[in-house]
Amino acid sequence: MRTQNQFSNELGQNEPVSKRSELDQKFIAAVDRLGRALRVARQEVATGLQVSLLQLQILEHLLRLGPRRVGLLAAELDVTPPTVSDAIAALQNKGIVDRHPDPDDGRATLVALTKKGDRLAAEADRALAGGIESDRVDSEQDQATALRVVLSEIHRMQQAGVISINRSCLSCSHYQPPANSGPGRCLLLRTDLTNADLRVDCPDHELAP
Ligand code: SF4
Repeated sequence: MRTQNQFSNELGQNEPVSKRSELDQKFIAAVDRLGRALRVARQEVATGLQVSLLQLQILEHLLRLGPRRVGLLAAELDVTPPTVSDAIAALQNKGIVDRHPDPDDGRATLVALTKKGDRLAAEADRALAGGIESDRVDSEQDQATALRVVLSEIHRMQQAGVISINRSCLSCSHYQPPANSGPGRCLLLRTDLTNADLRVDCPDHELAP
């Protein structure tokens, strides 16, 4: 069977696609497939808890990162503030989240999990972990390398303006990339960072210029 590239070449429509861009396309297709699989797993958990997919993401986010303002939550989840406000209002009606005054700014409020929300978010976390876990065939080292590759793609997408917030080591001003074959280093925490140690969402992250 002829590939898409061969068709294009025969028709003279495109320059030959390089090995590198072919690999890029395969990588994006694989990550996209993984994203869809995770979405299915999340949807199942959301349905079980009787919340929407976005509401579930808000629960996971608040559990992991603590109370935050609506604007920040919207930016972190890459949705508009009105969309996130609607989801928060629905969660508030169910007694899952609450709003408190922001101690740093009396005019602003923070969205936080209630006790019921805490329980629900922990339940969602367990259900998601259970749904995703399987007998892995790849080694821990392979996983760590994959983590680095995915984080560098996320960094690339942030630089291209596709996503607005990325708090991983590879985009952090405190990150010192590995020299030779050694680990990288966090200059703030003064610790070595192997691929497996790279953080996805670090509270100490500062965007590199
Ligand atoms: S501050 Fe956090 S994100 Fe930045 S390099 Fe250190 S561990 Fe990574």
